[in-house]
Amino acid sequence: MANKKENKTAELFADYPNLYKTASSDDLKAAFAFAEEYKAFLDASKTEREFASNAVSSAKELGYKDIADVTKLKAGDKVYTSVKGKGFAAAVIGKRPVAEGFNILGAHIDSPRLDLKPNPIYEDRETVYFKTHYYGGIKKYQWTTIPLAIHGVVFTKDGKMHEICIGEKESDPVFYITDLLPHLGGDQMSKKASDFVPAEDLNVVIGGIPVKDKDTKEPYKAAVLKLLHKEYKITEKDFVSAEIEIVPATKARDLGFDRAYIAAYGHDDKVCAFPALRALLAQAKPERTCVTFLTDKEEIGSYANSGAQSVLYENFLMEILAKSMGGEDKFNMLTFRKALAGTKMLSTDVTTAFDPKYGNVFEERNTAFMSHGIKLEKYTGARGKSGSSEATGDFIAQITDIFSQNSIPWQTGELGKIDAGGGGTISCFMAKYGMDVIDCGIPVWSMHAPIEVISKIDLYYLYIAYKAFIENIK
Ligand code: MN
Ligand code: MN
Repeated sequence: MANKKENKTAELFADYPNLYKTASSDDLKAAFAFAEEYKAFLDASKTEREFASNAVSSAKELGYKDIADVTKLKAGDKVYTSVKGKGFAAAVIGKRPVAEGFNILGAHIDSPRLDLKPNPIYEDRETVYFKTHYYGGIKKYQWTTIPLAIHGVVFTKDGKMHEICIGEKESDPVFYITDLLPHLGGDQMSKKASDFVPAEDLNVVIGGIPVKDKDTKEPYKAAVLKLLHKEYKITEKDFVSAEIEIVPATKARDLGFDRAYIAAYGHDDKVCAFPALRALLAQAKPERTCVTFLTDKEEIGSYANSGAQSVLYENFLMEILAKSMGGEDKFNMLTFRKALAGTKMLSTDVTTAFDPKYGNVFEERNTAFMSHGIKLEKYTGARGKSGSSEATGDFIAQITDIFSQNSIPWQTGELGKIDAGGGGTISCFMAKYGMDVIDCGIPVWSMHAPIEVISKIDLYYLYIAYKAFIENIK
């Protein structure tokens, strides 16, 4: 009797268990298999361009058509669009009229990194360097003394785009930012961490063998320019149109004796983008029209024509509505606005995981824990919820109901202690259309570091959660 009473009381409490404790062996197996697919995709998709292009290939393989090539759409049709080669949108048309609204998953595929300055190459004391400008919020000192790779595109005089990727193959060279030896680092080490590696010192070593010609003014730089011209037909001026990103030259690796975690570059937010893509690609003929947005420039405010604030994502939805109603000439703005107002969206971005070493920045009753699953974040923002797009209670109730019907574990919380800091996501740009949107994603350790950490079990249940959401939310 006593036991029964105790159980009844337990039901009154919220319980967010560690999923490695509660997962079935089938789920564990599925989680580890899904993690392998994620690692392979991540290694081939370190930049937004690579991710977007691999997303297009995955969609095409499953019969998705470029929406520009389609004039009419019906239930079960699959379309995609590339957003300037750096963002991606895809949809499966549902059985219900599109005018009733979309079910959207939105993640971002850009990650913190070092970009080249427009005039990047210089020679100093017989060494050649790239000048960089960091992209997104980073702790600058973390980017020194690690192997770096160069990813991006250059444009030759004929207007052609050429892809560059150096540092990923075993046989490739890597690139490197030096740091001061501890023996002479006393002064440096006494500075604030934000100051001891200034942004203008994030200069990447790229060469050190001169040309033989004695009259050349900068023989070391000249040698690198010669190599670049030979390989890519570019000159120094072409760096102004190039888009080159410097990222860690490391592959995604299992972490821990038990391989519970994955250590990799770019989990923020590709660990949400990958399952958001896969959840869409798993749809055949859903009830409501399902959409996945993979956006660019989130780390610097979602501006630019490939960021979440670009109308190109909106245009994709407009085009779907018009073509599902019989063609572009059938488009009606009010019907579109109403469709957006009837839309449900998960803004799927990572959150920070509680880290016991830095426990003082978290409020333990309201924080996400590693391996405890997807975190529903009612609001983000900083200093009194400022800048947050707060989700409505009825929408959250709808989501948690779907999760409980599908046995999907979840947790909740805030980013950190009130006034300890804060951050934003793409949800506010979507909420202005009247759609219901909530931030959710899985916890990450060392977010924005060159190598971040996620839990495999979180990744798997995130995928299951995204699928359940787009298949069932109304
Ligand atoms: Mn993010
Ligand atoms: Mn971020």
